[in-house]
Amino acid sequence: MTNTITGKTKLLGVIGHPVEHSLSPVMHNAAIASLGLNYVYLAFPIKPENLEIAIAGFAAMGIVGFNVTIPHKQAILPLLSQIEPIAQAVGAVNTVSRKDHGWVGTNTDITGFIAPLQTTYHQDWSQKVAVVLGNGGAARAVIAGCTQLGFAEIHIVGRNEKKLQEFRRSWHNSALADSFQVHTWEELPKLIPQANLLVNTTPIGMYPKVAESPLSVEEIANLTLGAIAYDLIYTPNPTQFLQQAQNQGAIAIDGLEMLVQQGVAALKIWLQQENIPVDVMRQALQSQLSLK
Ligand code: NAP
Repeated sequence: MTNTITGKTKLLGVIGHPVEHSLSPVMHNAAIASLGLNYVYLAFPIKPENLEIAIAGFAAMGIVGFNVTIPHKQAILPLLSQIEPIAQAVGAVNTVSRKDHGWVGTNTDITGFIAPLQTTYHQDWSQKVAVVLGNGGAARAVIAGCTQLGFAEIHIVGRNEKKLQEFRRSWHNSALADSFQVHTWEELPKLIPQANLLVNTTPIGMYPKVAESPLSVEEIANLTLGAIAYDLIYTPNPTQFLQQAQNQGAIAIDGLEMLVQQGVAALKIWLQQENIPVDVMRQALQSQLSLK
């Protein structure tokens, strides 16, 4: 199926810098074609200094909505006329839609992150402990996701003490400020045995450095049997981290479903419909990744 571009074709897209590597156009255009809709989804490389003018241009052009990726997820906030509470709490927006002549921002990474945890493992998380490696943008969505699921404890582990403290401070106005604790990497030996969910939000092990892992074999050996190891990386699949964890008896979740589900949630907002072809989107991503 291909989308025919006509004079009535509506525009969706993703802004980032760089953004050429994004898999979102493949995934969203597959969904649009499957639904037979007259939309197209494009990637727009927007430099940070051009963000404001680009967003004004999008408004003038009548763009229906767009995704936001690095480095604009936080910088876009002042340019929006409305920010959904969850995106406000996290301090990052990945999905923007046009409403009443203004831009509305939300964060579907949170929905994406929790989807495989909810659908695959029907657990009561209220007595569970989450340990999160990394304190970048994705870790913010993971904190919100773990809070929504009701985790008893959320521990964020970072390698750089200064950045870790900045990360801590950046939440001071957030409703989620008290939902987590921060730790340096040296504290991992104490934290890993307590983890029911261990999430890698660092890029360590991502293609092409596929032999790397955020943890040593000795560190991961302390993961308890039946714990869940969740890597936000989707290529390679599985990562070295997930292989190590599986060898240890852990349940593995890779980053592909998060990518699919954040896209599904964004399409629901833009198209104002619940019926989204999730299998088509997943298949489109898997085909694209197998070409790499
Ligand atoms: P980011 O904002 O750059 O954050 C990366 C974090 O990893 C930072 O805290 C960084 O530490 C840490 N880190 C990097 N190298 C490290 C190392 N060698 N040792 C220890 N920590 C290290 O990136 P992001 O947006 O959070 O994305 C992180 C990963 O998640 C990427 O692989 C991305 O592809 C993936 N992701 C996947 C999805 C999905 O849908 N599946 C969505 C979002 C992100 P410093 O702060 O000290 O530099």
